[in-house]
Amino acid sequence: MVEVIVVGGGVAGLAASLFTQKAGLRTLVFDTGVSQLKKVSLVWNYLGKTGDSGEQLLDNYRKQATEIGVEVRAEEVVSVKPEADFFAVQTAAETYRAKYVILATNLNTQLLTDLGFELIVNEKVPSGKIKMVKGIGWEGETRISNLYVAGLLAGLPSQAIIAAGQGAAVGVNIATKETGKTYMWHDV
Ligand SMILES: Cc1cc2nc3c(=O)[nH]c(=O)nc-3n(C[C@H](O)[C@H](O)[C@H](O)COP(=O)(O)OP(=O)(O)OC[C@H]3O[C@@H](n4cnc5c(N)ncnc54)[C@H](O)[C@@H]3O)c2cc1C
Repeated sequence: MVEVIVVGGGVAGLAASLFTQKAGLRTLVFDTGVSQLKKVSLVWNYLGKTGDSGEQLLDNYRKQATEIGVEVRAEEVVSVKPEADFFAVQTAAETYRAKYVILATNLNTQLLTDLGFELIVNEKVPSGKIKMVKGIGWEGETRISNLYVAGLLAGLPSQAIIAAGQGAAVGVNIATKETGKTYMWHDV
């Protein structure tokens, strides 16, 4: 049993994991490695990372997360089932248990559909092809207690810096709920 499982290791999922792990919640990220950001040869609009490719930016971000203790596994999550007081998260190899689950799967909406969420067009993305979960706010809360949505699926514009910020907000939200006081990570 871990405290937090993040499904999707793009910028949103990794940003969320940084904050939950730092708050002392053991966090496991599953990722199939097909982030949209990998299509970008040079990312110029992400703070502090001008000139990196999307792939390099994600590699660095993954290293940053693992350095503070996040575990990242290259496995696909095939189902998420809410049980009485935990979630059963299944990959091809194993079933894991977690108190909190964050879905940051962007283009892959299957887990959300399986959980009965209504998906609508994300109007903030001009192509009209990107989906979002209806009714999700900035902090990613859903109608299922302890299940959160992060990244473009929360109805964001298609910018990595915004997906990362919202993912961080989800992580802070969970840390605040779990610790019972407003969570803040300030280094001095
Ligand atoms: C061609 C192109 C160019 C772009 N250029 C820019 C740019 O210059 N600047 C910019 O800011 N943004 C750019 N973007 C947008 C940017 O890529 C997205 O805003 C960002 O990647 C969204 O982050 P995310 O974490 O929500 O999703 P993603 O980065 O797509 O991450 C989702 C992750 O979830 C994983 N996943 C999905 N399902 C599962 C599962 N069942 N189990 C485990 N893992 C799973 C995927 O493998 C993926 O790694 C561009 C996008 C495209 C397509």
